[in-house]
Amino acid sequence: MSVLGFVDEGLADLENAGLRRTLRTIDTPIGAVVRVDGREIVLCCSNDYLGLANHPALVSACATAAKEWGAGSGASRLVSGSLGIHEQLERRLAQLKNSEDAVLFPTGYMANIGVITALVGKEDAIVSDQLNHASIVDGARLSGAKVFVYTHLDLTEMEKALIQSRGHRRRLVVTDSVFSMDGDLASLPQIAALASKHDAMFVIDDAHGTGVLGSRGQGATEHWAVDSEVHAVVGTLSKALGGLGGFVAASEAVCDWLRNRARSFIYTTAPPPGVCGTALAALELLLTEPERISTLGARCHQFAEGLRELGLDADPTTPIFPIVIGGAQATMRVSDKLLEEGYLAVGIRPPTVPNGTARLRVTLSAAHSQEQVAGLLESLGTILPPITPLAR
Ligand code: PMP
Repeated sequence: MSVLGFVDEGLADLENAGLRRTLRTIDTPIGAVVRVDGREIVLCCSNDYLGLANHPALVSACATAAKEWGAGSGASRLVSGSLGIHEQLERRLAQLKNSEDAVLFPTGYMANIGVITALVGKEDAIVSDQLNHASIVDGARLSGAKVFVYTHLDLTEMEKALIQSRGHRRRLVVTDSVFSMDGDLASLPQIAALASKHDAMFVIDDAHGTGVLGSRGQGATEHWAVDSEVHAVVGTLSKALGGLGGFVAASEAVCDWLRNRARSFIYTTAPPPGVCGTALAALELLLTEPERISTLGARCHQFAEGLRELGLDADPTTPIFPIVIGGAQATMRVSDKLLEEGYLAVGIRPPTVPNGTARLRVTLSAAHSQEQVAGLLESLGTILPPITPLAR
């Protein structure tokens, strides 16, 4: 057998288990309605929560920044790639997060890897929620620190881990603020208090809170009214802010440390000017047109109420609604049926979610109309009963 025989075998195994992933091509820009296979469908699974990904102000700011600063930045930030527009964006991100400073990364994934590996190493310990995002998991592995994983949101177990890890040089508690596949929130004030009680650092990943939570879209720290208790806030520019990029908002000293120690900042080319221009325009819209956040909230309330009428649990605090089906194949069937009805919500399967909890991850956007949300509920109402009697 060829040395690459495992690839064909592995793909066949994935196929048989209903876990093979394929790409689906969207033939239009991202928005409430997109074209797939020649059909207009309502997109219900993107992270474009505020409907900014194809907003004319962002598109034109991207083009303007490219015209003014060029298409690429030519080197890493520490060599010759640190352009004025990067620094302008970092200042605006610090303002958004009410922090002293912020460091821009090419993606949120790289921001998590960077901050974790810069703060802890082999002699240290990380205390991490079981459902934290893969980029936190990867950052923790890469750091070489001993990782204590606690059951999702179980703060008693979390404190036990802090007690158990006492002998380590430094400890870092890290959690998603909004869990990406479940849409639920970590209780930041309580976690911060426990981290502080045990002299541990506290970092949050606010990828799904930024631009969504708090009346100004500042994120989870605004929602929970916590501030200095969180030592670093990771965010992304790729979800509610409609573009691409990641960042860490923290004190001047921590940001300086990241610029010196975060390898995913140091050893990679600086983000291109266009994405910085896009992000600046999104931040401006967040300030000048905050009503998008309340529109999103209204759609979430409408959808949560409708789901409850269908007998499902639903919380409107965030625009992420898991509809857990269980089996991978059954989930894909529900997703296919929904697509036939004109709504795209892809099935999320292991290993992205734990075994037996495959689901539709429905996400809403401020760009969705009330009618679209009502139509989605109606379709779910007709599709869910015969396929998922247990989930109801
Ligand atoms: N953290 C969480 C919780 C996420 O859901 C994601 C993206 N799926 C990331 C980090 C990574 O962000 P980015 O897409 O900007 O790399």
